[in-house]
Amino acid sequence: MSKSIMQNKEDRRCYVCEQLGERTKGALEEHHCFGGANRKLSEHYGLKIYLCIRHHREGKDAVHINKYTRLHIQEDAQRAFEEHYPDKDFRSIFGKNYL
Ligand SMILES: [Zn+2]
Ligand SMILES: [Zn+2]
Repeated sequence: MSKSIMQNKEDRRCYVCEQLGERTKGALEEHHCFGGANRKLSEHYGLKIYLCIRHHREGKDAVHINKYTRLHIQEDAQRAFEEHYPDKDFRSIFGKNYL
């Protein structure tokens, strides 16, 4: 298991709650920023975040429900990747440019 390059798990805060300045309630779930065929790559490069259930899969702004939340997080993930791996080409690895 690789570490997230986007967030410190030990902070125990939801990534979206934090950006909205809200308090995180309840358990956190791990979310891989790119799914499907790119899920393994997300794991490998640490492109994963921790989310409360509301922002992960149940609320109207949840990353698995709301495509704008999902895209916003994928943009953040690509930025984190480019900062963390300046010698690697995101687009050729993940097959798409999100920025
Ligand atoms: Zn949240
Ligand atoms: Zn998820």
